[in-house]
Amino acid sequence: MSQIEFQHVTYQAGEKAILRDISVQIDAGDYISIVGPSGSGKSTFLKLCCHLISPTEGILLVNGTNIMQQNPIELRKKIGYCFQTPLLFGDTIEENLNYPYLIRNQKMDSDRINMLLSRFNMGPDCLNQNIKNLSGGEKQRIALIRILLFKPEVLLLDEITSALDIDNTEIVEKAIQILNGEGITILWVTHNPAQSRKYADKLLTIDNGQIKSLEMLK
Ligand code: ADP
Ligand code: ADP
Repeated sequence: MSQIEFQHVTYQAGEKAILRDISVQIDAGDYISIVGPSGSGKSTFLKLCCHLISPTEGILLVNGTNIMQQNPIELRKKIGYCFQTPLLFGDTIEENLNYPYLIRNQKMDSDRINMLLSRFNMGPDCLNQNIKNLSGGEKQRIALIRILLFKPEVLLLDEITSALDIDNTEIVEKAIQILNGEGITILWVTHNPAQSRKYADKLLTIDNGQIKSLEMLK
């Protein structure tokens, strides 16, 4: 059984079909780079995967069940979505990293937080730092860690390094590679041709609302 399966999925916004008759299977543990021209429907594809939007036609299965029959909140715990512009809130890093525990009525797991901080090259002493003082790269890394505290099955990444410098990009790429090694499925929309082939095992090209190709890289 595929982890995510699109069966003839169309997503229509008003008159315009943004994605048309998409059929594709994504297996648990896949590392897929998603490329294609700007406006071709890549972000829309990711938003469908975590049910931020619903297919207007066709069927989208996650772990074998139609997403329309799944509780959206439970689905989003399984499928993490990281935007190009990191969205942090409140004052400190700790507030941001405590939030996933707070909404689950659980105590902060310092061991897991510290493990993830170090994997993204941040020290355990950063927790009290004000998010106003963070660089774009640090903000993006905290946003990723927040998604990863409760290990999701799938990680959707929407051009998360386009605004980052080379060093930050490399830290993020290495951490994502380790997470995939631990079994998390990665779907990564990128505009960087080198990045798209570096770690991924499949390359999905979307063009004008349709899947143009799915290439095996390994
Ligand atoms: P990409 O991520 O490949 O740049 P998107 O999935 O963001 O493409 O968008 C594909 C096209 O659909 C773009 O032309 C965009 O403006 C349009 N679009 C996306 N969402 C909506 C919407 N809710 N309503 C109208 N147009 C939309
Ligand atoms: P969009 O953002 O594309 O408008 P929505 O998520 O608002 O899509 O949902 C579109 C339709 O699907 C609505 O009629 C909504 O009630 C229904 N819907 C959304 N989520 C679920 C769900 N988990 N189970 C059943 N129906 C749902």
